[in-house]
Amino acid sequence: MKHSVTTPLQPFRSLSGALEVQMVPVWQDNLVWLILPQDSDDAWAVDGPEAAPVLEACAALGRRLCGVLNTHTHRDHIGINLDLERQGMLSEMRVIGSTTPKEPIPGQTRAVDDGDTLLIGGVEGRVLRTEGHQDGHLSFLFEDLLFCGDTLFTGGCGYLFDGPPARMFESLMRLADLPGHTKVCCAHEYTQDNLRFAWMVEPENEALAERIRRVWDLRSRGACAVPSTLDEERATNPFLRPGSPCIMREVARRLPEADLSTYAAIFAATRALKDRKDHRELSDADLPLHG
Ligand code: ZN
Ligand code: FE
Repeated sequence: MKHSVTTPLQPFRSLSGALEVQMVPVWQDNLVWLILPQDSDDAWAVDGPEAAPVLEACAALGRRLCGVLNTHTHRDHIGINLDLERQGMLSEMRVIGSTTPKEPIPGQTRAVDDGDTLLIGGVEGRVLRTEGHQDGHLSFLFEDLLFCGDTLFTGGCGYLFDGPPARMFESLMRLADLPGHTKVCCAHEYTQDNLRFAWMVEPENEALAERIRRVWDLRSRGACAVPSTLDEERATNPFLRPGSPCIMREVARRLPEADLSTYAAIFAATRALKDRKDHRELSDADLPLHG
């Protein structure tokens, strides 16, 4: 299966420089994040559909995979645990995941919950419970690096498999409250589909038009539009913008029966509208690609 990212990002550092991050594209659109502390040869993987590409990336970097952080238990996130188990390597790993995972996390050595901290490369990371996509879903924050799994995506958010919408909305609002320079290291490259929908509901947003031009240029070269920053997300992600009069108007027009009485309700209706996939009818000619 060919990945939609053919030119992976160069490694980058966290704010203090103590952590390096390497993106590993796996399957078609999954993004595995390797956290590389600068004070050791360790590597930590955040999620992963399978182990082989992650182990290869570690070998190329001269690193030893020492642990996995699992945001949630969908197969494309714990497949790496299962592979490591099959290869007899899981017992050597530290495996960190939720105190209340939806399914058991293979090899879990530590259970964490909202407010807990974990130390990697001398950096204290923070655990946030961000449910809505799946019960037990966690996000991990290390300095300016946010590993948010399938909760917040660049330009969008995850499906509400477990919901309810109000819980997802609360999770997203907590993430949106983090500092604007925070990097959104989500688990999939879905940016173009997400921004196509964003443009359908907010065609008056100049920052969105500018972002669409930038992202289409990147993606046309096989480059990745992940990570974004929270500043960008707050300015252009429709799921973080329930107060936008334009979004409210568009959602009301397309879903006349929807309850739009609260921000959480607007979020729920906006998510339901995206699930209808009307935005896939929008062609590139409908997008502001030549501003
Ligand atoms: Zn998922
Ligand atoms: Fe996923």
